[in-house]
Amino acid sequence: MKCPRCTAHVTPLERACTTCGFSATTLHPLLGNQWIRLERITDAAHCLRLEDTRQTEVVLDDFERSFPQAFFATYLGAIPNDLSPAEVGFWLLNQGAFNTHSLHKRNDFGIVLVVDPSAKAVSISLGYAVEACFSERTLSKILHASGAHLSAGRYGKAIETACLSCARQLKRLAQSSQWTPDHNLSQGMGLEPLRGGHRPASHSRAGVSHDA
Ligand SMILES: [Zn+2]
Repeated sequence: MKCPRCTAHVTPLERACTTCGFSATTLHPLLGNQWIRLERITDAAHCLRLEDTRQTEVVLDDFERSFPQAFFATYLGAIPNDLSPAEVGFWLLNQGAFNTHSLHKRNDFGIVLVVDPSAKAVSISLGYAVEACFSERTLSKILHASGAHLSAGRYGKAIETACLSCARQLKRLAQSSQWTPDHNLSQGMGLEPLRGGHRPASHSRAGVSHDA
């Protein structure tokens, strides 16, 4: 992943960025270390009109239907002077609690859009499990398109564009990485013999396959 402070490359296993020393705990004195409840849309800047919110909710619903294991959250608010939107996004991804029973999995699959309407700044933070799906070029394209709407004061469109583009990218990757059956039979057929006999099965079920 990219360090949210100096953009150097850091591996998820590293505790702190070896270039600038930034780590998840760096932001605790500034923003706290408590879990915070993170909604799909947090409009702290009060800049979304009702119709913007409604339209954005439709796009977010579509996103969640397509990717039930992932989430897309947006924070709109003024970012403190000593912080960047990327740092706030990173903190939200680490401290945000969604209404779900599998918290960690969801945060790994999270995408957090941070919009500072007054500074006209936007950032996208990606959870560990989804960041590999986005090249730097793809991400900067998405930010550029979203930022164009932001500059024109179209806040709803800025969120919509980012969410739709991220969904498109995830879909593209899901389609190109189709599961291929393993033809390697060196391990036998992959069936373990039962020890100590077995009872006959009362029902046999035909294989059912689902198209994901
Ligand atoms: Zn760094």
